[in-house]
Amino acid sequence: MERDYYEILGIGRGAAADEIKKAYRKIAMKHHPDKNPGSKASEDKFKAAAEAYSVLSDPEKKARYDQFGKAGVKGGPQQHEGNFYEEDFSDLFENSPFGSFFGGESRRQANHGEDLHINIILNIREIAEGVQKKVKIKRYTSCDACGGNGSENGIAVDQCEPCKGSGFIRNMTRTMLGNMMTESTCSSCAGVGKHIKKKCEDCHGKGRKLKEDLITFQVPAGVVGGMHLTVHGKGNVPLRGGVSGNLIVHVAEEQDDLLKREGTNICYNLHISFVDAALGCEIEVPTIYGAVRLKIPAGTNSGKVLKIKGKGVVDVNRFGVKGDQLVFVQIWTPQELTKEEKELLLSLKNSPNFAPKPNKHEPSFFERIKSFFQG
Ligand SMILES: [Zn+2]
Ligand SMILES: [Zn+2]
Repeated sequence: MERDYYEILGIGRGAAADEIKKAYRKIAMKHHPDKNPGSKASEDKFKAAAEAYSVLSDPEKKARYDQFGKAGVKGGPQQHEGNFYEEDFSDLFENSPFGSFFGGESRRQANHGEDLHINIILNIREIAEGVQKKVKIKRYTSCDACGGNGSENGIAVDQCEPCKGSGFIRNMTRTMLGNMMTESTCSSCAGVGKHIKKKCEDCHGKGRKLKEDLITFQVPAGVVGGMHLTVHGKGNVPLRGGVSGNLIVHVAEEQDDLLKREGTNICYNLHISFVDAALGCEIEVPTIYGAVRLKIPAGTNSGKVLKIKGKGVVDVNRFGVKGDQLVFVQIWTPQELTKEEKELLLSLKNSPNFAPKPNKHEPSFFERIKSFFQG
């Protein structure tokens, strides 16, 4: 089962650094887990290639491997197999035609760590009042053992010699149109621009470690589903120090069974009996801030909209603007009647007060709703 690293990458023993990189890139592209979901064979090939590359791309390890075989590089990749291929990925595909495919960014703007994304679902009360959230995420944080520079005990690191610390190698190429300057990522330092004499054992020279981190952030009142919040600096720490990425929190709203949000207003359907509507009553109504007592005036018609001021949601974009709760009154018509109830109602049937007399000057139901939402 133990295969030779050169064989895994399909190259000869005399292969140059560029050739090794190219061979690895080809295999990694083909067998990347994102492109072959669920394929164990691809995953194994991908990991084997990553392991081979991590040794053959490192001149020191390569020399030991050439001389002693795998025994010479033990304690290397196998021990931290879990995630090491993810880490080095961005370096490898930068400045390649595949860079954009993997979302790689140019190292020039980059010693920036990757952003991380999470989703949260908020209920209507959390939205109304704002909420402090605590979430556990896995992210790369600075290695404690080396302080993040990847060097043993955090000893100062030297500038990378081949690229003079820029992370780039410039090449002059003669073409028919004259000399052309091309740039490629420095292969000695993978674009970081620094040379480490002895790697930190804790993080294998990466300067960062994948850790579970508890992140606390405040969600302001009035957020709307589809918005996102940015928690600065709580994404990944980049390789060997730099600016951390951000944590992007995507907000979704949980629908409430009773209280429906309409912008900054809260809508509530209230069913009352015909008797309560005719005589008037005081009734308990739920709001996002707790129950309140609402007065229903005598003679209230179905479709009446009552307003409970200030029990809506604040406008996240306009300071001091807050909606109301709109209570849509529905008069409940009994679905079943006893003999006695029927007789009682029949006795009232011909009473003149029971004949509908809608007021022509009163705005219609739809006009009323419209005015509330414009208000
Ligand atoms: Zn370290
Ligand atoms: Zn370099």
